[in-house]
Amino acid sequence: VHEDMERGGGGSGEEDGGVGTRIMVYVRLRPMSKKEKESGARSCVKIDNKRDVYLTEMALETDYLRLKRLRGRHFTFDAAFPDNTSQEEVYQTSAANLVEAVLEGRNASVFCYGATGAGKTHTMLGTVQQLGVMVLALKDLFAKLKQRSPEGEHVVRLSYLEVYNETVRDLLSPGRPLVLREDSRQGITAAGLTQYQAFSADEVIELLHKGNTNRQTEPTRCNETSSRSHAILQVLVEYSVPQEIGKVLRVGKLSLIDLAGSERALATDQRTLRSVEGANINRSLLALSSCINALVEGKKHIPFRNSKLTQLLKDSLGGACSTAMIANVSPSNSSFGETQNTLHWAARAKEIKTKGNEANEEIHLMPEDQEEKSKLLAQMQKEN
Ligand code: ADP
Ligand code: MG
Repeated sequence: VHEDMERGGGGSGEEDGGVGTRIMVYVRLRPMSKKEKESGARSCVKIDNKRDVYLTEMALETDYLRLKRLRGRHFTFDAAFPDNTSQEEVYQTSAANLVEAVLEGRNASVFCYGATGAGKTHTMLGTVQQLGVMVLALKDLFAKLKQRSPEGEHVVRLSYLEVYNETVRDLLSPGRPLVLREDSRQGITAAGLTQYQAFSADEVIELLHKGNTNRQTEPTRCNETSSRSHAILQVLVEYSVPQEIGKVLRVGKLSLIDLAGSERALATDQRTLRSVEGANINRSLLALSSCINALVEGKKHIPFRNSKLTQLLKDSLGGACSTAMIANVSPSNSSFGETQNTLHWAARAKEIKTKGNEANEEIHLMPEDQEEKSKLLAQMQKEN
């Protein structure tokens, strides 16, 4: 067997500071499904050393020496998760340090990228038995807040929204499409979006699963559970930290994003309504790839405005934010093209620089202010 490995996505990202200065990129391989096994699929992805990914293809033709040719590509990522990796390990490696960053008053985001059926929703949301990154992050966040502000001086607000067909919808309170607004202080926000104040991770599990059933999941030809919508969970954290004099109020934002399937719309039904939806999904994901390209090339103008998704991800990709991307892939050779595409973009994303070391402004509350505040509060209570 000839080994003909081409090295893909060389590691320019590896020399610099890592977390906080560029997007951290992880690859997660899911187990072969029953269906794939039954149809005689072979595995075309191999993971080594917890970070090397080999994508191989046994070419059908044999050469003149009757040797089968093994063609392939080699990629290196910040970490690569084999198909038996637990949800907890994925969370600990890819997102736990971002929860820490949010508690230090910074913004962070994690997004899953990959074809339909590659394991994005399993990774992000998971099931009640196998909690995904969204829920594990909230569990961790509440546990850490309890340690750091034991008097309960913290607020956690959740929003869960979807971009479907270039329309933004509230998954916690489905209704009319929401309008995006840009605000110099908060960046891009969706007007009228529900902000749910959460008190524990347990209540959040149900909330997110309920929200997820509100996602638009039209069956398509290539996969019945296909999801054409992008789901974004935003977690806003505010808490006060005691200082020698007074306190500081820290504010951080964590965004957790389950992207729609990255496969091309061409692979599905082009005739009816779905081709329109496909075009729009493509628009959001195409816009995402143009933004990634522009960011990698250090362009001055980044076309965030080209789609709703990129508008919403603006501060995750280009701003003061620490970002992790989890690229999900199937092991099956029947998904070779999609896997290659996913690994290509994932390798490219490693080159995106961010300004994740910048913290949000802290608000200092001096003792005088607090006295003043409690006086005011007392007065208000009397008046009521
Ligand atoms: P996507 O959201 O990318 O379309 P899903 O997360 O829905 O894909 O995964 C497709 C199927 O594969 C689901 O049935 C899911 O339970 C299963 N699956 C995905 N990843 C894993 C994994 N790491 N371990 C076990 N099953 C998985
Ligand atoms: Mg999904």
